[in-house]
Amino acid sequence: MKSPLRRQIPAVSKVLDALGRCGVPRPLVVEFVRRKLSEIRANSDIPKFESIIAGVHRSLDELRAGRLQPIVNGTGIVIHTNFGRAPLTSEAIHTLNEIGSGYSNLEYDVATGGRGRRGDYIETALSLLCQAEAATVVNNCAAALVLIVHHFTAQKLERFKQSSSKECKSEVIVSRGELVQIGGGFRIAEILEASGATLREVGATNKTTLEDYAHAIGPETAIILKVHRSNFFMSGFVESPSSKEITALARKKRIPLVEDLGSGAMIATESLGIAEHEPTPAEVLKAGADLVCFSGDKLFGGPQAGIIVGRKRFVTALKREPLFRALRCDKLCLAALQTTVNLHLDQNIGAIPTLALLAVSDDALRARAVVISSSLQGLPITVAIGRGRSKPGGGTLPNANVSSVTIDIVPANSSVAEFVASLRASNPPVIGYIADDRFKLDLRTIFPQQDDLVIKAIRAACTK
Ligand SMILES: *Cc1c(COP(=O)(O)O)cnc(C)c1O
Repeated sequence: MKSPLRRQIPAVSKVLDALGRCGVPRPLVVEFVRRKLSEIRANSDIPKFESIIAGVHRSLDELRAGRLQPIVNGTGIVIHTNFGRAPLTSEAIHTLNEIGSGYSNLEYDVATGGRGRRGDYIETALSLLCQAEAATVVNNCAAALVLIVHHFTAQKLERFKQSSSKECKSEVIVSRGELVQIGGGFRIAEILEASGATLREVGATNKTTLEDYAHAIGPETAIILKVHRSNFFMSGFVESPSSKEITALARKKRIPLVEDLGSGAMIATESLGIAEHEPTPAEVLKAGADLVCFSGDKLFGGPQAGIIVGRKRFVTALKREPLFRALRCDKLCLAALQTTVNLHLDQNIGAIPTLALLAVSDDALRARAVVISSSLQGLPITVAIGRGRSKPGGGTLPNANVSSVTIDIVPANSSVAEFVASLRASNPPVIGYIADDRFKLDLRTIFPQQDDLVIKAIRAACTK
């Protein structure tokens, strides 16, 4: 029997009215309301109107949290892949604004009034910066690797087909110690195979000798690939041949030598107070590599990009590949990259955030920590100034640490985990880490102009 008190499923319009402004485009709100109501329809139990509204609000909050939004990075990891890697210099933002908001000479030659070549300036500037014969840019370093491997293996196969009718393959020689996985689901081996190459692994995880390389070289060999161990560190019984030895071997056998550097430091990392030396593209080219690729948004400090530098005839050939067109950079990427390259050429390191953040002195961080911790007096938390170890991160200098200063908090009325969650829910989210049962915020990766935001977020988290 139907009860007269049984609640009705509310109309969509009634729920929409009750929700008010949600800060998301209306069609999304309507869709979420419809979903909620049809969930309810599938159930026999109809909840109270208020709880329906609360449920929709919760779903919309979750949706909103997924929008691309700024966060405060208190992890101390300077190049954090989950946090968008390199923050861009304000000068790059200025160029982005100019180029993005109007028309530009992306492929127009202002001097002649004819068609121009995309990336001309940047290729010249990058060649000089990396002391390379030539340079070019694609979408990211993974794309650079795909393009390079595809080019050389396809070329090899083509030659094979012309010279023999036998079944043939085209191999990329890589040391087993360098078949790394970088971040979520990016494995060098898979990238190579997806590019149409047959992987020829040589050596063992911890030890690869020159003879291992020499034995593997044959008529199928397309290139020798060296992959920089960017996100892990091996110690102990470890051996690999020097660049000089590999170069000599590659030269003698007339095999191109390609090096995937990943991070792409332009300056000696020691000058940033990091003990470990990250090889620069110029050094690697000087040691004899034919092509080098690296990311634009790691230590280089620019936008997402894959920079390729090296021998002119190889770079020219890469640019002729149809695949190059599919992997090319857009005007915004080129605009931000151009500004970053210019700053490197001017040796204006202080203007490049990734490098500037690494270079900030502990004393400067401590001075901020004193101000922040005194602003947090009287709250139900214990605050202390602690020591941290910041990391370049993002597949860069896996074994390197830079000393840092942290704000350490132990909440009095909640667990550390609850405190972390409420800071994550603040606007913008404030992210730190837990160590020694304390919540820690590393000030190296927090911009000084964000200190007030951090104080406000902590105050708000204490009153929740
Ligand atoms: C980070 C990294 C890559 C991938 O670079 P993306 O620009 O993210 O595509 C490739 N190789 C190495 C060695 C890396 O460190």
